[in-house]
Amino acid sequence: MMIFRKTEYIISAVKPEQYPEANRPELAVSGRSNVGKSSLINKFVNRKFLAKVGRTPGKTQYINFFNMNDEWYLVDLPGYGYAKVPLQTRAAWGKMMQTYFRKRENLRGVIQLVDIRHKPTEEDKMMVNMLWENDIPALVIATKADKIARGQRPRYLKIIADTLEMQDWKEIIPFSTEDGTGIEELHEAVNHIIYGAGTEESIEGI
Ligand code: GDP
Repeated sequence: MMIFRKTEYIISAVKPEQYPEANRPELAVSGRSNVGKSSLINKFVNRKFLAKVGRTPGKTQYINFFNMNDEWYLVDLPGYGYAKVPLQTRAAWGKMMQTYFRKRENLRGVIQLVDIRHKPTEEDKMMVNMLWENDIPALVIATKADKIARGQRPRYLKIIADTLEMQDWKEIIPFSTEDGTGIEELHEAVNHIIYGAGTEESIEGI
């Protein structure tokens, strides 16, 4: 388990000039509105209100930066896919994402969230392609796993993997904020992305 001594909101940015200084590793979380992104972030850091749950979908068109232990940045990317968002706003979102992925040199990877119950959408595919094009490692997480019986999950994960053109559905981490499914795997994966091969404990022990 990663230990969070300090987690705090820093800034909501639109333009690169507003991003915090790129002096630490960074990990971003992305997904459709309502996929469970805020819930996952809060569960991940074991805080109830770091990211806001259940905001009006489509209203969070900012890149939100959080300070993790003064060691790395966690970034909450704006949710997408909300039907009522005007085309203009969607275009602005696409441009903002492209700019972020292209310019953010300290970005180590992106956690891409999809709802375990649904086939990934065109926008999910677009997002994963954007990561692929920019050589950014992606970790796919299937949220709301508690909604599908354990024995049924592989069938759903295979659909997600096929749609996103992944090699192996077993690379997807099923996750649930309701019953804690996947939290340890997520901590382990993030630890690896941020700190590399060594564990956080061994780094902290230096
Ligand atoms: P966001 O828009 O992606 O930030 O999604 P939220 O975190 O606000 O969650 C959207 C809705 O899904 C809320 O009603 C949550 O309570 C619900 N939700 C989130 N995670 C889970 C989960 O793991 N299991 C279940 N059953 N519901 C969840």
